[in-house]
Amino acid sequence: MTESFLRPLFSVLLLALLTVFFPACATVPETGRKQMVFFGEEMERSQSEREFAQYKRRNTVNKNAALNERVQRIGSRVVRVTPAANKAWEFVIFEDSDPNAFALPSGKVGINSGIFSVATSDAMLAAVISHEISHVIARHGAERATHGTIATVSGALLEIGLAVATDISPLTRAAIVGAVGAGATLGVILPYSRAHEHEADRMGLIYMARAGYNPEAAVEFWKRMMAASKKKKGLKLPSFLSTHPVDESRIKRLEKWMPQAQDEYLLAKQKN
Ligand SMILES: [Zn+2]
Repeated sequence: MTESFLRPLFSVLLLALLTVFFPACATVPETGRKQMVFFGEEMERSQSEREFAQYKRRNTVNKNAALNERVQRIGSRVVRVTPAANKAWEFVIFEDSDPNAFALPSGKVGINSGIFSVATSDAMLAAVISHEISHVIARHGAERATHGTIATVSGALLEIGLAVATDISPLTRAAIVGAVGAGATLGVILPYSRAHEHEADRMGLIYMARAGYNPEAAVEFWKRMMAASKKKKGLKLPSFLSTHPVDESRIKRLEKWMPQAQDEYLLAKQKN
C-alpha cells in the first residue's frame, strides 16, 4: 500500500526539482561556465545589507582620508570595467591588523587595514579588490547556497526512495544515506569552493588588467601572502589564508591565465 503511494510521489518530487532548477541556469562572465543558481538577487541583497550593517557596528571603520580615497579610486576604476558597473558598490576599510578582505553579494566590500602591509602597491590592492568583486559578479555565494540545498533535497529524496525499497535492511539504508551525505560535502560542495577561488582569481586577473593595472601584481600579492604565512609559523595565520589557501598551484594557475590578462592590460594601456 505504502509502496504504491510513495513511488509516484518520488517521481513528482523529482519533476518538481527539475522544474525549479532548469530556469535557474546562468553563465559566469569571462569564464563562460554554466552554473545553477536559484536564489534571487533581491534576497541576496537584503541579506547582505543586514550583515554588512551589523559588521560595521561590531568593527571599527577606518576614517583615514588618504587610505579611503586610495581604495575608492582603485575600487571604482576596477568595477567600471566589469559587467556589474552599475551595482551599488561600497568599499569600507576596517581597523584590523589581520590582512583580510571580503565582499558580500550586494557589492559591499570590506578591507582590513592589515592588508596594506601585504598589498603595498595600488596594483596589488587592485588584485585583492578584483578577486573579491569577482566572487560577487560570479554569484558564488548564491551558487554555494544552491549546492547546499540540492545536497539536502537529494538526501531527503534518497531517503524517500530507500523507504520505498522494502527489501533493503535499515542498516544498509543508513549506510547509503550516510555515504551520499559525505559525497555531497566532499564531491559537490568543497571542490566547488576551490573552483570558486580559481574562478575569482581568473576573473580578477582580467578585471584588474582591463582597468589598467599590471596583472603580474596578483602573483606578487599571493607570493607576499605566502611569505607572510611562513613568517608567522606558530602564530595565528592571517584569516585570508584560511579562506584563500595559497601555494605553488595557485601561483601556477595565475601564470597560466597571465597571457590573456596581459593582452587585456595592453589593450587598456593603448586606450589611455
Ligand atoms: Zn576568494
